[in-house]
Amino acid sequence: MAKLKLGLYWAASCGGCEIAVLEIGDRILTLLEHADVVFWPCVADFKYKDVQAYDDGYMDVCLFNGAIRNSEGEEVAQLLRKKSKVLVAFGSCATKGCIPALANLYGRQELLDRAYLECESVDNPQKIFPQTETAVAEGKLHLPEFYTTVRTLADVVPVDYFLPGCPPVADRIWDVVLAIVGGNLPSAGSVVGVGDKAVCDECKREKRQVKITKFHRPHEIIPEPDWCLLEQGILCMGPATRSGCGALCLNADMPCRGCYGPTANEEDQGAAMMGAIGSIIDAKDDDAAKAIIDGLPDPAGYFYRFGMSKSTLLRRKLRNNGKREVKIEVLK
Ligand code: SF4
Ligand code: SF4
Repeated sequence: MAKLKLGLYWAASCGGCEIAVLEIGDRILTLLEHADVVFWPCVADFKYKDVQAYDDGYMDVCLFNGAIRNSEGEEVAQLLRKKSKVLVAFGSCATKGCIPALANLYGRQELLDRAYLECESVDNPQKIFPQTETAVAEGKLHLPEFYTTVRTLADVVPVDYFLPGCPPVADRIWDVVLAIVGGNLPSAGSVVGVGDKAVCDECKREKRQVKITKFHRPHEIIPEPDWCLLEQGILCMGPATRSGCGALCLNADMPCRGCYGPTANEEDQGAAMMGAIGSIIDAKDDDAAKAIIDGLPDPAGYFYRFGMSKSTLLRRKLRNNGKREVKIEVLK
């Protein structure tokens, strides 16, 4: 069988997904027996023009990690879609927006002001912001356009498979690699490298059906071993998070942060978690419930850390010409 032509790309992301590919360890040698890497800017000096020169559909598989934050991400997504037979949204940034999409809690100008005016390490008395086009003696310089809203890969191009995780764990990546090499992928549009259930179903900690009256940060208490962390007042996203990781964090006494995104039956991970919390707090009236919930630091950041781009929120209310508006459409 001819070797597969494989591409990997990194849009708006932290790079963790690229590192995760290397975590398959010496199995990468087996991968390279079956696949030639024809585009991976993180590890070799490929240029966009190299990819532009490929025939359409030249790459058998492209693993695309990162969210779509600016015009460069969108343009490369379109290019790689054209040049790939199979395009995989790889990791939670590409599948659900993940950490970059938490910026959707702010407006475009708020983000630019913070980065270019207000940040403690910035000295910018002339209030210079990045421009998409700048004239210099040699001609015009171009920068990508910074979009208002962070989107997923599937929001800008058709995607064949979705492999969530922040990052996906190495064994799940390997399962998917074997499926690709063996031509055993499920039907297009499937979520791969995951379980069908919630992390709670993989977690070995005992549930005692106990309600809570207070939340604790993980560093504030030493949890009782083997007992559900949520029932001990430590916010654990296990009830609202898709399994696939093997409950690794729970095995190390750390709560689930939700990095595999919502379960198969839930689109909005934060709403699912709010429901789970509603059923576990011990409050006789609204004031008591509010006092317990107020003990949660940064609820939006907790509940939507991995799924903001696909939440029903999409973004918080933005100030527009002095009026408060709810933007629910996907904007550039
Ligand atoms: S999914 Fe997580 S590890 Fe991967 S690029 Fe995004 S933030 Fe980084
Ligand atoms: S809430 Fe967390 S600790 Fe409790 S069973 Fe679910 S995954 Fe385990």
